[in-house]
This record gives sequence, structure tokens and C-alpha cells, in this order.
Amino acid sequence: MADPTAGIESLGDLTGKRVLVRSDLNVPLDGTTIADDGRIRASVPTIRQLSEAGARVVVTAHLGRPKGEPDPAYSLEPVAARLSELLGRPVAFATDTVGASASETVAGLQDGDVALLENVRFNDGETSKDDEVRGAFADQLAQLADAFVSDGFGVVHRKQASVYDVALRLPSAMGGLVAAEVDVLRRLTEEPERPYVVVLGGSKVSDKLGVIDNLIDKADKLLIGGGMVFTFLKAQGHEVGKSLLEADQLDTCTRYLREAADRGVEIVLPTDVVVDTAFPSGDREPQPSVVPASEIPADALGLDIGPESAAAFAAALADARTVFWNGPMGVFETDAFAGGTRAVAEALTKVDGLSVVGGGDSAAAVRQLGFDEAAFGHISTGGGASLEFLEGKELPGIAVLERG
Ligand code: ADP
Ligand code: MG
Repeated sequence: MADPTAGIESLGDLTGKRVLVRSDLNVPLDGTTIADDGRIRASVPTIRQLSEAGARVVVTAHLGRPKGEPDPAYSLEPVAARLSELLGRPVAFATDTVGASASETVAGLQDGDVALLENVRFNDGETSKDDEVRGAFADQLAQLADAFVSDGFGVVHRKQASVYDVALRLPSAMGGLVAAEVDVLRRLTEEPERPYVVVLGGSKVSDKLGVIDNLIDKADKLLIGGGMVFTFLKAQGHEVGKSLLEADQLDTCTRYLREAADRGVEIVLPTDVVVDTAFPSGDREPQPSVVPASEIPADALGLDIGPESAAAFAAALADARTVFWNGPMGVFETDAFAGGTRAVAEALTKVDGLSVVGGGDSAAAVRQLGFDEAAFGHISTGGGASLEFLEGKELPGIAVLERG
């Protein structure tokens, strides 16, 4: 069999061939309006490449978490329309996944045409833990195509029918998006250029334990902000008021601080914090104030790193040659608490080397704050998948393509 890691060229001449592409089109929707089309745009190059190669392109993807049966709230139809705009060509939409509409739609494709199948999670075979149930669904998907291209990086950590099982049934290859993601993540884990700085934030320490574990002995500096920082501050003996705190992770944070010290990895925590007396909500204007990280009032909660910390984080990033950033520094969704995230994003755009943004909310933050995506070395489309890769776990959707 052809070398799947060589990309879609390994599939040979695709003229007239039906190619099933697993893309990640899981975009946030406001009703039927696409709130952020980043993932659709990221999926376009591979789809266009296949179309230009003369393939009959059948795109499969999921949206949200429907319960294994059709649910109009999770229809991919609005996505088909946006995909068509971005491709600049019609996209035929099948109103089911492997049923009559899918067969008819695929049968109607001419060379170079593109179709999108309805939400693959409308079928309970997609995410079933039962290999046979999943396999039976993968058989049906495989009947729609002559070859398979895996291009949904956001799902390659899932052992699901359209990600894993279908690759066992068809000649398969990595799409350019997955290949690019894997290449960048390897550069972060295998001999990164130094200094290597890792910036972690977001809501929970417990979500990021595996990454901290795996990167603590690879990075030179670890900058910590976001909601997770309060468990670290508490572990250092500071009071954190009403801030997000994972009491069951205090010992783990203490251990990380000690391990880092032992290994000469510098952990940088904020020295000041932006607080308010309530979590931002539509009901009241934010009343932000800046306090030292060691003096968070009992009735306040930390919602961003302060300006002094933001400057220190930016300075710590200034000479980095490799940066991985996951997790916003604050509740960036509210402008009053977006300063730290903005400062870190800004610093990343100036890195002379490889700068990588991973994580769904972090990528959304970069876009929401108006940064030019091209200013970053790489913005990962797959939050969970990039984290699992950096934790050192095997990703089923990659392993299945790389098997000998
Ligand atoms: P990613 O998706 O990039 O991996 P996470 O999902 O871990 O990031 O975290 C993103 C969320 O963390 C954002 O919605 C943000 O509002 C929240 N967050 C950041 N700082 C804080 C904080 N100090 N307190 C509570 N939530 C926070
Ligand atoms: Mg998230």
C-alpha cells in the first residue's frame, strides 16, 4: 500500500475517483448563523486540492453533540452554504449520512464536484464504543467512496467510525491540514529550538495535567495564567478569594512547583491580578480592579492576569525560539478581562521562531481580539487532539494511517 503519510499524492491519480474526506467543520452556531468559520476555512485547501485533482469529493463531518439520531438543531446545512461560498463552487448537500440522499448525492457528482453529507453523528454508529456497531457504520461510509482522506485534526484523537474505522476499509491518506498539525506538534516535542516557553491558561488545571507533566521537562519556562493559576497561587500559600480553585489539585500543583525547581524549569506566575466581585454577566457592568496576586480580597475573584504580569509574560516570551500557548490568560470574552490574553497573543506574534496556539478557546480568542492569524506560526484547529498529542498519547486517527 502507498505511504499514507506522504499525503494525498500517495493515493495516485484521483480523476473520477470518489474520495471521502473527514473534515472538522464543528463550528459554533448562533441558531443557523455561523459565529466563527475558522474551521471551515481551514478545511478548504484539502477539499479544493482534491477537487482540482478531479476527484468526486464527499465530505463528512460532525457538528455538536447530537444523540446519535437526526436533530435539526445540529444540521450541517448552513455549513454547506458557507463551504460553497469559500470554495467558490456549489456544494451538494445530502440530508442523511449513509442513506438514500447520500447515495443519490454521491452518484450525481461529476469529476471535481463536492458534496457534504449530513452530520455524521446523526448515526449512533459513529461514536459507538462497540467495535462491531462502529464497523458496520464504517462499512456503509466506505461504500460511498474509493479512497479516504483524514483531514479533521480536531477529531483524530477519537476512535470513531469516520475517523478510525473507515481508514481500515479504504486506501487512506492524511490531508494537508492533519499533516501540518502533526508536523508542528512533533517540532514541539522532539528537539524544540531553545529557549522553549510554554504558556498555559484556561479554566482548569485538571484539564491540562497531562500536558504539564509531559512538557515540564521539555520547556525552559512555563508561564501560567487563566483560571488554573489560582490553584498554583493557593499552593504557594496565598489566599485567592472566590477565584476558581481546584482544591483536589493543590498537592499536584505543589509537586509541579517543586519538580520545576529541581529541573531548573522556570515557572512564572502572575504578580498582579485583575479582580471583580462577580463573574461577568449581562446583568451588570464589570468593575475590574488590579490587586497584587498575594492580596486577593476574600470577596473578589481573579478574572485576568494584571498589567505588570502581562508585561512580565511578554518579556519572558521575547527571546523564545519555540512557544506553545494553550488557554486564555483571563475571561477574554469580556473586554475588561481580555488584557492578559491580548498581551500574550501580541508577544507571540513577535516571536522569532515557532509560535503555536493550541486550544479551541485560545484560537477563538486570537480571532476575537482581531489578530491576523498569519502572524502566528501555527494555530491548531484541534484543542483536545493537540493536547493529547503533547501529553504523549497515541492518537487513533493518526496511528491508523501510519500502520505498516
Ligand atoms: P482552550 O479551549 O484554549 O484549551 P480552555 O477551554 O481551557 O481553553 O479555557 C478557556 C476558558 O477559560 C475561557 O472561556 C475563559 O473565559 C476561561 N478563563 C480564563 N481565565 C479564567 C479565570 N480567571 N476564571 C475563570 N475562567 C477563566
Ligand atoms: Mg476550551
